[in-house]
Amino acid sequence: MGIEPRAGILDIRPYKPGSSEAPGIANPVKLSSNENALGCSPKAVDAMTAIAPKLHLYPDGGATKLREAIAEAEGLEAENIVCGTGSDELLQLLGRAYLNPGDKVVQSQYGFLVYRLVAMQCGAHFVSAPERDYRTDVDAILETAGDDTKIVFLANPNNPTGTYISDAEVRRLREGLPSSTLLVLDSAYAEFVSNADYSAGIELARERDDVIVTRTFSKIHGMAALRLGWAYGNKSIIDVLHRVRGPFNVNMAAIEAGTAAIRDRDFMKRSADHNEEWVAFLRQQIGGLGLEVTPSVCNFVLIHFPETAGKTAADADAYLSSKGLIIRAVDAYGLPNALRATVGTEDENRRLVAALSDFMKA
Ligand code: PMP
Repeated sequence: MGIEPRAGILDIRPYKPGSSEAPGIANPVKLSSNENALGCSPKAVDAMTAIAPKLHLYPDGGATKLREAIAEAEGLEAENIVCGTGSDELLQLLGRAYLNPGDKVVQSQYGFLVYRLVAMQCGAHFVSAPERDYRTDVDAILETAGDDTKIVFLANPNNPTGTYISDAEVRRLREGLPSSTLLVLDSAYAEFVSNADYSAGIELARERDDVIVTRTFSKIHGMAALRLGWAYGNKSIIDVLHRVRGPFNVNMAAIEAGTAAIRDRDFMKRSADHNEEWVAFLRQQIGGLGLEVTPSVCNFVLIHFPETAGKTAADADAYLSSKGLIIRAVDAYGLPNALRATVGTEDENRRLVAALSDFMKA
């Protein structure tokens, strides 16, 4: 018998990333991980390339330059920011710092899978609140959370549904929770949302000491490979996260590329504009095939399939894969009849619609 890990660790089913392979197809189109259709800022590539001769040096453990660049670009205070190896790491750090075994963690029904993993790693008790129409239901979260929940995780907008709740609703949620509950607002897709009633939650985190916002460079900045995220919140929380992070948790390439990327507002705007155009196209075209598409403000759409033999989500997944198009099964989220497709380039989006059209006609 091997050495036993902590109780509960072996119950964890490791996170399964979006596939990048279609059997027998040389160069498949990958629309399974919500990556940026436009790539990333050329300025970020240049900045990363420039540090190649410095690979023998440790990075600045505090990522000061990057935090200052984020603060300047976003109108924030650098001391209220902590960076991480992807926002994933920041979510893990929140669990490590705040969760005791047996603590209660609440999320919305189809919330991002990593929250469950964080809770399980810490031996916390994980509960989901039901959604309505694939949308976060604040009343259900308040009812589920009660007054003894340590963390509420809310992806806004959420992956894999693509839906969001308004700033007013987020504030109503915060008001309804006790101040002993930390509200984690995961705003990974915030930059894609142009709706006037939406907020990434930065103002709320500035006003309160029981809210933290996490952000990522993986989506609008197209830097998923480098693993870079940041969190903004009250200094009391930021100080705690600095204590539990690794001494050099963000690497030098990420610091340099991230600093260039956050300043490249033109690339960010082009990414958001491209997305707005093509997410609408996918929704309209795929909806026109008789498939239900959940309204999305993100860089992906959730497509619902019938249970009819030959036309199920699993059938569609296999068909698309045979045509070299990889999208994402979401049964791990309790959505066995749906698939999630990332917004791609114009050509990729048109190929996806054409293949789905052929699938539905077949
Ligand atoms: N939150 C949400 C809602 C996500 O969809 C993702 C990425 N799939 C993340 C956080 C993690 O992003 P990253 O670690 O790349 O910053």
